[in-house]
Amino acid sequence: AAAADENDVVVIGGGPGGYVAAIKAAQLGLKTTCIEKRGTLGGTCLNVGCIPSKIERCLDSAPQLQPFSCGLLMALLHSSHMYHEAKHAFPSHGVKFSQLEIDLPAMMAQKDKAVSGLTRGIEGLFKKNKVTYVKGFGKFVSPSEVSVDTLEGGNTVVKGKNIIIATGSDVKSLPGVIIDEKKIVSSTGALALPEVPKKLVVIGAGYIGLEMGSVWGRLGSEVTVVEFAPDIVPSMDGEVRKQFQRMLEKQKMKFMLKTKVVGVDTSGDGVKLTLEPAAGGEQSILEADVVLVSAGRVPYTAGLGLETIGVQTDKAGRIEVDKHFMTNVSGVYAIGDAIPGPMLAHKAEEDGVACVEFIAGKEGHVDYDMVPGVVYTHPEVASVGKTEEQVKALGVSYRVGKFPFMANSRAKAIDDADGLVKILAEKETDKILGVHIMAPNAGELIHEAVLALHYGASSEDIARTCHAHPTMSEAVKEAAMATYDKPIHI
Ligand code: FAD
Repeated sequence: AAAADENDVVVIGGGPGGYVAAIKAAQLGLKTTCIEKRGTLGGTCLNVGCIPSKIERCLDSAPQLQPFSCGLLMALLHSSHMYHEAKHAFPSHGVKFSQLEIDLPAMMAQKDKAVSGLTRGIEGLFKKNKVTYVKGFGKFVSPSEVSVDTLEGGNTVVKGKNIIIATGSDVKSLPGVIIDEKKIVSSTGALALPEVPKKLVVIGAGYIGLEMGSVWGRLGSEVTVVEFAPDIVPSMDGEVRKQFQRMLEKQKMKFMLKTKVVGVDTSGDGVKLTLEPAAGGEQSILEADVVLVSAGRVPYTAGLGLETIGVQTDKAGRIEVDKHFMTNVSGVYAIGDAIPGPMLAHKAEEDGVACVEFIAGKEGHVDYDMVPGVVYTHPEVASVGKTEEQVKALGVSYRVGKFPFMANSRAKAIDDADGLVKILAEKETDKILGVHIMAPNAGELIHEAVLALHYGASSEDIARTCHAHPTMSEAVKEAAMATYDKPIHI
């Protein structure tokens, strides 16, 4: 029989993967403890221990803390969008201001308030569900024991029949580019800049870099994105990506694609980057006040003691798991950013639920092909399923249905009509293979398509579903019509 202090489930890491797994485990009647080193829950996705006004102190005292998050970024994206709208869109709607200015400290305070409320909410959920919460850094001493250096200064050993690793990810560093979180920042520092930089260079055209670039661009920075690859956001459908890049260029974001950073000089006031074409060639200098390094993320398992218990990782440092999320060590599981798959908060949550369901002897299921991806710029770009390039590569015969928001009454009425819906369906069966939406609210609109994909729906299923008028969602219905027949409004 288990010792009185032994848990059914111990979760290391309180991010979206870990805290959701812990709550679900408790709901399934399993005795559960969650260990989190930051002192607050929510992981990379919600803000944690260090609110940005205290960022320097936090970084000084514990460089491994990552006080950045999707929550923080979302708050800043919204605030900066409101400023941008007030400046550029309100006048044409007949709303005029005599004076409009940015109060950056107030904007940051609003963001901190939103996020600290959310993280406290998770603590409340732990109490409600009777999850034991241990604040400290966890390290394996055996496959069923985790030694925790607690934030109060002591040490305790937490025992569990099953242990879930949910330690997430960290910023990927670039050789020769040292992040000081002042002039050369990671997303952490970029979420807490004390003033709007005149010139911001973003290294890496992934979704985080473009979102951050949008925030500071809207607030007045001149933004240049340097990317090694020939395209921005490589996972995006090629046609949508081209339109998206044009949109960002219209917003004055500059792109230097097929370009690599080969040198960094921070000796002067700002930063001087030495650039070179990706294929080699003549070098050039690009000056910036602040440089954001946003070249991807890597699994975070430092100091966890994986080698002590023999947990295997792949070349990229990701923990290898089977379809039950179990590692090569029996009773030790891993989920979220620490394992292969899309590095997204909602994917980590799905992993967490399925993993715990397996532990409880039930069935769990996550289909990584149906995890939606959203870039929260304006317009947003959301997608689920396959891109046209992927469908072609599979050799499947397919049809494409497209509908532009220029022909959607709601989008026209609110004068925010840049973007489109693109649906790919199998030619023979009309089964939906992929949906890509660029629109102001694409991140919300996409879920109709996610559900359709889950249920193996055809484009005709969406087209024959009554959609309310006037809504942006009508564009999804029309694109579905265009996939196998003709749309009405174009
Ligand atoms: P994490 O959220 O990284 O949580 C892991 C937790 O484990 C951390 O709190 C860490 O402190 C703790 N930990 C690590 N090691 C130990 C240890 N040994 N002992 C105790 N605790 C430990 N995803 C989206 O879906 N949508 C977005 O809009 C989005 N925006 C993002 C914006 C930014 C700027 C960044 C950086 C990421 C964004 N992401 C977004 C990605 C998302 O944050 C991650 O995919 C998600 O947080 C992964 O969840 P996780 O639980 O696996 O790991």
